[in-house]
Amino acid sequence: MRGLDQQMRRELEELDGRGLHRSLRPLETACDPEVRLHGRRVLQLSSNNYLGLATHPELRAAAREAIDQWGCGAGASRLITGHTDLHADVERRLAAFKGTEAALLFPSGYQANLGAIGALMRAGDHIYSDALNHASIIDGCRLARAAVHVFPHRDAAALDAALRNAPAGGRRLIVTDSVFSMDGDRTPLADLAEVAERHDAILMVDEAHATGILGERGAGLAEECALTHRIDVHMGTLGKALGGAGAYVAGSRALIDLIVNRARSFVFTTGLAPAAVAAAGAAIAVVQREPERRRRVLAHAEKLRRGLRAMGLDAGGDTHIVPVLLGDNRATLAFAAALLEHGVLVHPIRPPTVPAGTARLRVTPMATHTDAQLDQALEAFASAARACGAPR
Ligand code: PMP
Repeated sequence: MRGLDQQMRRELEELDGRGLHRSLRPLETACDPEVRLHGRRVLQLSSNNYLGLATHPELRAAAREAIDQWGCGAGASRLITGHTDLHADVERRLAAFKGTEAALLFPSGYQANLGAIGALMRAGDHIYSDALNHASIIDGCRLARAAVHVFPHRDAAALDAALRNAPAGGRRLIVTDSVFSMDGDRTPLADLAEVAERHDAILMVDEAHATGILGERGAGLAEECALTHRIDVHMGTLGKALGGAGAYVAGSRALIDLIVNRARSFVFTTGLAPAAVAAAGAAIAVVQREPERRRRVLAHAEKLRRGLRAMGLDAGGDTHIVPVLLGDNRATLAFAAALLEHGVLVHPIRPPTVPAGTARLRVTPMATHTDAQLDQALEAFASAARACGAPR
């Protein structure tokens, strides 16, 4: 075993040598705009708790009540005895929120993507996947054993051409993030829906980062673009803007029934814990009742984007996610360390999360940040940029 430890240490050193080593860093408080880290209070701009719902009193109360009534765990997979009235009720509310016939809870978004893709696709089928799709979509495609065709990021014309040349036979699936997690941009959803219809392809959209943020009721990009009924598979997560944990797939009754029967990441896993199910139900209500939260987080991101660009930094995206592209892994680590010295926690994002040579800082404000905190963050960025010799 000592030999194995040595081998593993060498692998870790090799990662470190390329600026790719990662380690866990425990926060000492809940994920609020300010957190305590290493005994110090710092401003954080790196969570997916975009609306601040993770610590919202209504979600906490719903989770507590669910624990009192249903206990801490579902106790089994959903098809055995892990399905309850609570799960069924929140699934009905999710379907109504998304505007679909049915919805199904999953313990995580990772599993939801694996499950939905795996239920629909198999060897001999063809999947068309955006080049910057999330890792869980990539892994879902791999596990399905279908042929995978990666199309250039947001390029509906290239997708159309690829489908025009598609081999005959088998099912076709187009799959994309709606808001891209590390780039903060949106897929051209109307164009993709047109391409899907032209080539008789299934369209699946991962709304992990748009759920709770975009659309009149916060249901996502599909709602914002009035395209709900032209999308076959809606997927989203409950652990980001919705402040809890878990995920959903929504669509037709037939789709959900097929997933219940075929998705291995649904069938062979314990049902989502009651506290998380109840928190999701409460979150859907808060999101619809408090639209000012999403307006505020989008405005916060725009203020940061403008301020960062004014410093000469390469701040991208057009949503609540603001990537600041630096390129080099070590330069990105150094910039994040300088920010932390100035009391601001922003996580450096490196390969394989993003393509090689595109390391970045991913800046994500929360609706609950104050304007003064955003100013403080911009000042820290200016100081860190000076210290690191980044453009000004
Ligand atoms: N899809 C996207 C686009 C994501 O960003 C993530 C999480 N980072 C997931 C799916 C996976 O969701 P979860 O964290 O619930 O597994």
